[in-house]
Amino acid sequence: MSQIRSRSDLCMAPLKILKNVRLACVGERAETVDHGLLAWNGETIVFAGAAEDFPAVEVGRAHEVIDAKGAWLTPGLIDCHTHAVFAGNRAEEFVLRQQGLSYAELAARGGGIMSTVNHTRAASEDELLESASRRLQCFIDEGVTTIEIKSGYGLTLESERTMLTVAAKLRQRLPIDVKRTYLGLHSVPAERKSERAGFLDEAIDLWLPRLHSEGLIDAVDAYCEHLAFSADECARLFQRAQQLGLPVKLHAEQLSDVGGSRMAAAHRALSVDHVEYLSATDIPALRAAGTVAVLIPAAFVVLKETQKPPIAELRAQQVPMAIASDLNPGTSPVQSLRLAMNLASTVFELSYAEALAGVTVHAARALGLHDRGLLAAGKRADFCLWKIDALSELAYWWGGNLLERRFFGGSSG
Ligand SMILES: [Zn+2]
Repeated sequence: MSQIRSRSDLCMAPLKILKNVRLACVGERAETVDHGLLAWNGETIVFAGAAEDFPAVEVGRAHEVIDAKGAWLTPGLIDCHTHAVFAGNRAEEFVLRQQGLSYAELAARGGGIMSTVNHTRAASEDELLESASRRLQCFIDEGVTTIEIKSGYGLTLESERTMLTVAAKLRQRLPIDVKRTYLGLHSVPAERKSERAGFLDEAIDLWLPRLHSEGLIDAVDAYCEHLAFSADECARLFQRAQQLGLPVKLHAEQLSDVGGSRMAAAHRALSVDHVEYLSATDIPALRAAGTVAVLIPAAFVVLKETQKPPIAELRAQQVPMAIASDLNPGTSPVQSLRLAMNLASTVFELSYAEALAGVTVHAARALGLHDRGLLAAGKRADFCLWKIDALSELAYWWGGNLLERRFFGGSSG
């Protein structure tokens, strides 16, 4: 249970209080509290727990007291894997997939990632900022307060820099925290297919340190797959990232098992994402490394994949499972994290409580963020009031506006 840490927490004005509220994801054990109260000062929660444990005298001194009338309150939702900055879309591929073409066949025809790379390189920074703002607003409107955005549709130093700069500007423009991930090893661009080694040298040894020195990178990612980069190539990127003090994560085992998760665990990666083809024998290494398995059910559905991630084994070995939208124009044109929660429940058979943990506490961990994802003293004051009777409704409904009120950094709106 979350407690007031010291009396000085309450002396910092202005104290704000939500009373008569049902709390989810409270304290380090992520409990629920039926007759709850939450208090915060500025951007920080100072109390979350049973109302009877909060000093009544402090309620009278609060700057603002909001009666939630029994509504559910959760931490702000966190989408830990998106490619939200891009130009163009791939509706044409959507049609071709309906005609039976596989992802690999589309890539071989010049579709796939390179199609989006060409559109993104041709777009101006302002155009990218405008289109990504519209997408992020969809997430804000359904209760997301932190979102991760990857580069990887530029694949030159200049255009990777533009993507990361746009991600930084989104954080300044909108009431949402944006974490920026360098995905220089997303695909070898078409014009460099004949000199793969040279591309790898630049992406790893030139672009990464340069963009890091410009303050544009929070984490480093790669696409480890038979049609992208090998585990050894990704390991080289990880070693460079770690020399720079940057955390790493990996697109791993989406289409085949090429040993990506094993390698990622050896580098104590924050997360391995997709993991449909993850071998059960690699799960103990993830557990030991504290690596989160990020599930991406929308891409599973779009690609008509049939092999599910090893959910039961991940659960049995207590590997934290996060859920992400993977918003991208090709394999996951999803502008709703709640839809991803629903798909994780219906397709991957997670419980609603696992789905909620997957977009709060476990998603925070997948980004290396320890200051959010739970309602507890000391955490960021990012939380959402919902128009629901049961917590399970967050994973139950497809679409609809369930958000009553959203607080970002302690402010409503
Ligand atoms: Zn992705």
